[in-house]
Amino acid sequence: MRVRPRDDIALMAGYHSPQLDVAVRLNTNESPLPPPAAFTDAVAAATRSVVWNRYPDRQAAELRARIAARHGVTADQVFAANGSNEVLQCLLLAYGGPGRSAAVFEPTYALHSHLARITGTAVVEGVRGDDFTLEPGEAMALIGSVRPAVTFLCSPNNPSGTVEPPSVVTSLLDAAGATGGLLCVDEAYAEFAPHSALELVDDETPVVVTRTYSKTWAMAGARLGYLIGPEWVVAELEKVALPYHLDALKQAVGLVALDYVDEMQARVDAIVAERNRLSDRLGGLPVDVWPSGANFVLMRPRHRGAAEVWQQLVDRSVLVRNCSSWPRLDGCLRVTVGTPEEDDRLLAALEEILA
Ligand SMILES: *Cc1c(COP(=O)(O)O)cnc(C)c1O
Repeated sequence: MRVRPRDDIALMAGYHSPQLDVAVRLNTNESPLPPPAAFTDAVAAATRSVVWNRYPDRQAAELRARIAARHGVTADQVFAANGSNEVLQCLLLAYGGPGRSAAVFEPTYALHSHLARITGTAVVEGVRGDDFTLEPGEAMALIGSVRPAVTFLCSPNNPSGTVEPPSVVTSLLDAAGATGGLLCVDEAYAEFAPHSALELVDDETPVVVTRTYSKTWAMAGARLGYLIGPEWVVAELEKVALPYHLDALKQAVGLVALDYVDEMQARVDAIVAERNRLSDRLGGLPVDVWPSGANFVLMRPRHRGAAEVWQQLVDRSVLVRNCSSWPRLDGCLRVTVGTPEEDDRLLAALEEILA
């Protein structure tokens, strides 16, 4: 006989993102290029000095110190984990839970509400306007009335690409602070955007910023992310993370990557230029396109269903993300910026399909 899980888990759908074998993969916002060859060589060398028979440095002290130096904070203000998803989960384990709530502004990154539910945290949904921007007055009113333990603000927002102006971030921070809550700015795509909330972080302010190696650093395969926030938040996160959760090889790889900041910046610049070209070209097709500050673009075919266009792209070996079943994204597809060749293939396929 099967054993019953928690009722709320039994009713839940898992996190699904189809991984199909196609020539052009533009569905999960990864980097189209691997890290530089010199990085791969340096990782190979670092592998040889890993002390395999011992548990890794539980504090990940060196990695945190280097990340801290990069952002002008102290190592005590950095928490690193297996992808920023694990960072978010730890945040909800420490600050969410039964009797507490988390606020999200839909449509946004599905994992925020998903992880909230898994940790027994009630989810409160605010909404964005038709152009996916936030109306700060409404958002502040929601925070004031619900008093969420954690408010998630994804900027640039996945899947719309919307970048929140600094004034909106500080408005939400004021509202969260006034109710004793924490503001979490998910900046998985910050490097592709014009500004960041990092400068708001200090030990007196209830704001945390999450970052990841998965997108900018072309290291989705490594599963490494981190949070910058007040020391007192980091101390609580360390209590809920599993002991030794960051393996020794990952710590070494994360350090090696930080030796290649210039190369990574060059890639980010190239992707931003390519994003702007892709957005312009999409603008010439019968699709709605929203401005993006990330490495992806959200679009909606005007006269054709999203599922149909998605399938016809797959038939042409191009995979994008069908977002049409997500809240408020009826008819929408999200396209990751690829190499110019990949994007040209997407554009040619779309021209054919939408003709
Ligand atoms: C991709 C993504 C993450 C990512 O994750 P990792 O677990 O670090 O790979 C976090 N937040 C948003 C909004 C994302 O799109």
